[in-house]
Amino acid sequence: MVQFVNIHTHNFNDTGLSIINLFPEDIKKIKKNKFYSAGIHPWKVGNINVYEQLQQTERISKQENILAVGEIGLDKLYPDFDLQKEVFLKQIKIGETVRKPILVHCVKAYSELAEIMKKENIKVPVIIHRYSGNITIARQLIRFGCYFSFGHELFNTKSKTPGVFKNIPSENIFLETDDAKTDIKDVYKKAAEIKNADTKQLVISVFENFKKVFKK
Ligand SMILES: [Zn+2]
Repeated sequence: MVQFVNIHTHNFNDTGLSIINLFPEDIKKIKKNKFYSAGIHPWKVGNINVYEQLQQTERISKQENILAVGEIGLDKLYPDFDLQKEVFLKQIKIGETVRKPILVHCVKAYSELAEIMKKENIKVPVIIHRYSGNITIARQLIRFGCYFSFGHELFNTKSKTPGVFKNIPSENIFLETDDAKTDIKDVYKKAAEIKNADTKQLVISVFENFKKVFKK
């Protein structure tokens, strides 16, 4: 049955078809009947035992209801960028080892991300959550098969994001609530309005993308 897919949320009580984000230390919060992603967030790399958490991430990622490695990535607004990059590359390898998609957090580092996509020949699907780059970089990333997820930034009329979203093909998009309290159904409604599309049709296309990427 077609459902509203929420590709990224931090709400542990979410009851929909959602991917709940876990940090490696959250392993005890995992419930059997829910889906998760697990990974080391770029904000955290300077304050943790990276070696231990990488091992933990690999261990957790093998579990059946962990659908993706993430959120992992690069954030120029946070310190230790070189370490962020190193940890990101190692977690991409984890995604390839466990053959699961990776969910990427990227802030002000899209050219570095495009560079990595070019060099690494990543074989698992890559979903960039809360995409905030421009359409030119998006088109480059689409060539590497990337997917883009959007959330509450779609409601921000002063942001360029709604315009970027409008121009990304439906086969490459996902929607999310992230850390906002917004109902995922309202995100779909807003997204359909921006694309001049029917909400039901959008729900179907994102659901198809979900089935394709996660083999569900
Ligand atoms: Zn998040």
